[in-house]
Amino acid sequence: MVPITENNTPMAQYQCPDCGYIYDEAHGCPREGFAAGTRWASLPDDFPCPECFVREKPDFLPLSDAALRA
Ligand SMILES: [Zn+2]
Repeated sequence: MVPITENNTPMAQYQCPDCGYIYDEAHGCPREGFAAGTRWASLPDDFPCPECFVREKPDFLPLSDAALRA
């Protein structure tokens, strides 16, 4: 079952094209200060990949159907 938020939009995933790290909105990135459920749209544009620190938010690739529809 896909997690549903208050606005009925499924959680989306985005992948770093360099290292393959996946940002999942359902999990967020707590060690970078983004709680579970933090939307991709809520991340700053200079959000760096927490794995390789090479790529930033605009470089990430939408991974799920939810992301592709957004
Ligand atoms: Zn990366």
